[in-house]
Amino acid sequence: MSKQQQNTGRQIGQTGFTLIELLVTISIMATLMSMLLPSLNRAREAGQRVVCRSNMRQLTIAWYMYATDNEDNLCSADTKWNDKGANHWVGDGTLLPPGNPIGGTKEAIKSGVLWRSYTGRSTELYKCKTDGSELLRSYSISRTMNGKTCNCEHDNINPFKTLGQISRPAEKLVIIDASSQDRWIDGSFSPIRDIEAEVPEWPLTKASHNITARHGEGCNISLADLHCEYWKWRDRRTVKLANWEIDPAEASPGNVDLERMVGLLRGLGQ
Ligand SMILES: [Zn+2]
Repeated sequence: MSKQQQNTGRQIGQTGFTLIELLVTISIMATLMSMLLPSLNRAREAGQRVVCRSNMRQLTIAWYMYATDNEDNLCSADTKWNDKGANHWVGDGTLLPPGNPIGGTKEAIKSGVLWRSYTGRSTELYKCKTDGSELLRSYSISRTMNGKTCNCEHDNINPFKTLGQISRPAEKLVIIDASSQDRWIDGSFSPIRDIEAEVPEWPLTKASHNITARHGEGCNISLADLHCEYWKWRDRRTVKLANWEIDPAEASPGNVDLERMVGLLRGLGQ
């Protein structure tokens, strides 16, 4: 082999790559891909966030139209499908009865009053694209919007029953991105454990309901004036709570996200 051939690793007149050239090219491509992938993932998530907000807005408009067509009365925020005559926005599973056959099914969504007249095109409207779970529904309506006051640990509230009762609608929560590790998300949703408590706390984390941080460590919400917002969580503990990593007692003290959420839930009837 001549000196020139040794220097190039290739015989004169041969056109293919040497093994070293191939390895260098592959390593450069791998480096470029590793630099590009995070920004591609961010762009993909940003697109899904927009779709989520669009879903939420359409559902909130449906929620509003239902009220205007029913003498100003809000649909029920609850989802307990066997609670007859409650005008649930969707029906779904709950604790009773055992073996609830409708929980987590399309039938659960289609049994709601919003489906029949306002959202009947597709059940996809009820699912956040970033929600990788098998749940068919990713959204919950705030318990403050005609949810049930229950004799349990959640809260003790006097919810709005009609559109006319909602003061400052631009500051009142309607729909929130929610999550569950069960087959369904619990009834109406209260992101605060006790809305009137002097020191508020995030709700007790159960397998069947939680806040989320699925959009760039934040979540989408809709308000009663029909606009939607993206909330980036400011406290790392909120993200951990949403990811089921810590409990509310650890996540609540001095949490700015919690204080902000309280502002969307208090002031009932004012
Ligand atoms: Zn979403």
